[in-house]
Order: sequence, then C-alpha cells, then structure tokens
Amino acid sequence: MKRTPLMAGNWKMNNTIGEAVVLTQEISNQYDKGIWGEDVDILICPPFIDLKPAKTVLEFDKTKVSVGAQNVYWEASGAFTGEISVPMIKEIGCACSIVGHSERRELFGESNEDVNRKVKALVEAGLYAIVCVGESLAVRDEGATEEYVCAQVRAAFAGVDARDAATCVVAYEPIWAIGTGRTATPEQAEAVCAAIRATLADLYGDDIAQQMRVLYGGSMNVGNVDDLLAQPNIDGGLVGGASLKAESFVQLVKACL
Ligand code: PEP
Repeated sequence: MKRTPLMAGNWKMNNTIGEAVVLTQEISNQYDKGIWGEDVDILICPPFIDLKPAKTVLEFDKTKVSVGAQNVYWEASGAFTGEISVPMIKEIGCACSIVGHSERRELFGESNEDVNRKVKALVEAGLYAIVCVGESLAVRDEGATEEYVCAQVRAAFAGVDARDAATCVVAYEPIWAIGTGRTATPEQAEAVCAAIRATLADLYGDDIAQQMRVLYGGSMNVGNVDDLLAQPNIDGGLVGGASLKAESFVQLVKACL
C-alpha cells in the first residue's frame, strides 16, 4: 500500500513568537503548491505559545502545512497547573500532538500509561497522535531493542480501537540518536520500524498496519534522509535540529517526493 510520507518538525523549546512567525513564513514562502500538495504531508510542532501565530501565518498564505503540539494533557480542563488540553489545541486548529517523546519520558517522568491516556484523549477529540517510541543505548546493547520498543507501542495503543489507531503515526526515535548527530543506520532503523509495523498488524490486522505511518527520528538531516526514506517501512521523519532552519526542513520535505 502507498502511504503518503509525512515530514514533521519538532521545534522543541525553541523560537519566541516573533521567531516562530519568521520561520513559519520562510517555510510558507518556499511551499510549492503545484508539487507538494498531494504527495507529502508537512507538519510543524512549535511550542504551545507559537501554535496560534504559526497557524495564522499558514492560513493567511493558504499553505498546506499542518500544525501540531509537542505534548498535551489528557483531561479537558480543571486544576492541572501548567498543562494544556486537547480542546485547547483543537481550537487553534492543531491536527495532532506528539506524545511520549523521549525527552518527556526521561526529563518529565512520562510513563507508558500517561502516553496511552494522551493518545486516547487525542483520538476521542478527532485529532491524531504521533506516538514516540525508542530505546536507550543500554537497551540496544542488551539486544532488547525490538522487545522494548514494541512493548511501548502496545502500551500506547492499549484500549484504542482500530479506526482511531489507523489515524495515528508512530515515530521510532532511538534515544541515542536524538540531538547527538549519531543516526541509526538505515538498516537499524528499518529493522525496528518493520517490527513496529508487525506489532501494529498483530494489534489491528495487516490492513490497518499497512495504512499507518511509521517515521524515523534521530539526527535526520539532508545527508542521511534519502537512505532512510528508501527503507520500505520508513514513511517520513520526525526532525528536531534540522527543522529549525527553513532551508534544511524544506530540503527534508523535498526528499519525500
Ligand atoms: C526529535 O526531537 O524528535 C529529534 C529527532 O531530534 P533531532 O532531529 O535533533 O535528533
């Protein structure tokens, strides 16, 4: 089955509103309506306060680039100081949220159960989740990568039905490759992405698993993107550093075509 590639930029905690408007405008200026429209999905995930300004720029320009959050809380409202809910990002026009990024798991103690609650809150509201999974170097050295990553996938989708899961995306992001300049080889990335798809097939059947997009993330850049995207189970990228400059992000988008 042909899956439309997705190139997603995770800006992390970078860009003030002013900077976000400039970067979004730069991406929008390079958007090629004739070529990009149908063949690649493009997503930027700025910090919460930048979501509305970024969305406004893209709407004004009629640029088919979606906006997503980097995180979200599972309750709709209430006494949860500092959190942002799904209805809040939905009102802005977000298509999705990243959930379970390794920085959230490692630095903010996000558990598999939290990730699962977030996935459910998103799909119940009609948004999709980009579920991040990935192993540490210690897990890889033990030879337990696939077992570990596939258990994260199962936990994230526990109790999520096939129709909702089909809208979601899984991003394989080995922790040792994020922001380190050390990329997984295409073969390493493909092996884990294939195992993720096999897990999705086990949960939801082959048809759904073939529809769902599996991304690679971890020091993806202009130099390695072609070999990674050439792998049959890698349907795009979740990109941190290289998404912070319009020029490199746009080149990654073009590599999907
Ligand atoms: C990420 O944050 O999801 C990521 C993959 O970062 P980087 O591309 O900088 O490694």
